[in-house]
Amino acid sequence: MGEVPPTHPRYASLMARKLLTEAASEGMLAESALIAHGRGEAFDYLLGERTCDAARNSIREIAGRLQEADWPIISVNGNAVALAADNLIRCAAAVPCDIEVNIYYRTPERMDALIGKLNERKEVLSHEPWPKGWDNNPNVEQWEQFPGDWQEKIRNVRILGGEPDGRIPGLEGPRAECCAEGILRSDVILVPLEDGDRCEALVDMGKTVCAIDLNPLSRTAKKATITIVDELTRCLPLLLDDLIDGSLMPDENWDNDQNLREVVSEMLRILDDA
Ligand code: ATP
Ligand code: MG
Repeated sequence: MGEVPPTHPRYASLMARKLLTEAASEGMLAESALIAHGRGEAFDYLLGERTCDAARNSIREIAGRLQEADWPIISVNGNAVALAADNLIRCAAAVPCDIEVNIYYRTPERMDALIGKLNERKEVLSHEPWPKGWDNNPNVEQWEQFPGDWQEKIRNVRILGGEPDGRIPGLEGPRAECCAEGILRSDVILVPLEDGDRCEALVDMGKTVCAIDLNPLSRTAKKATITIVDELTRCLPLLLDDLIDGSLMPDENWDNDQNLREVVSEMLRILDDA
């Protein structure tokens, strides 16, 4: 792809496509990955390519749930790594929790490529300064049990998934595989771009499933405990801000169906104005 100036009206979308096609040529993605992205792009148009108020509320709720969890985990697939490796690692450092690579079409080559990519980015990020806002966090004590500085927090994020030793009940074949110390024992799981079947299986295990999915009508969006209907790379900086803020509390009465209805209303408003 030739040079695209940042002022181009479709800059973010073109960059995302570039990241995905590069990741595909590096062997990180299944063939269907670009199709899945295209489905997301279509829904993003209907959202005006911005974070709607309902999504902003879901982001806050998920920050609270991750921070109150006993065993939080972030589960990532190929598209998530290709698009947002850095901010996923930063979010994991801020929670703090590990990242587990868990892909739908598991092959050893793809797993190695994804785990390699995350470890490579982790090494780069472990030299970066503290993110903005950290020193205002009211929960510093909670974090003091995790030694040292931001770099240490980044280094403490483990990249799991290479040696699965557990299974998600109710799923068949390699897509059920997971790590006992990661997804299997987790109580709160953040899963960007998850498939509907696996989302349902994780909910059936009693986990709080936090999904990120641009399609408010997908099975994933409907089955998850909390759904952020927003584009992955757009919502992660907001989630990171909220995790760094650290003051958000879970709402026991969270109504995900109501949240999804608000997103659909927003889409209808946008269509009405078109
Ligand atoms: P489900 O499996 O939940 O029934 P599906 O089969 O229609 O949904 P999949 O192909 O499993 O969908 O996964 C693609 C999903 O990921 C789509 O719903 C799409 O909206 C979403 N998606 C793709 N790219 C992004 C992105 N960058 N940010 C957020 N969501 C995305
Ligand atoms: Mg699906």
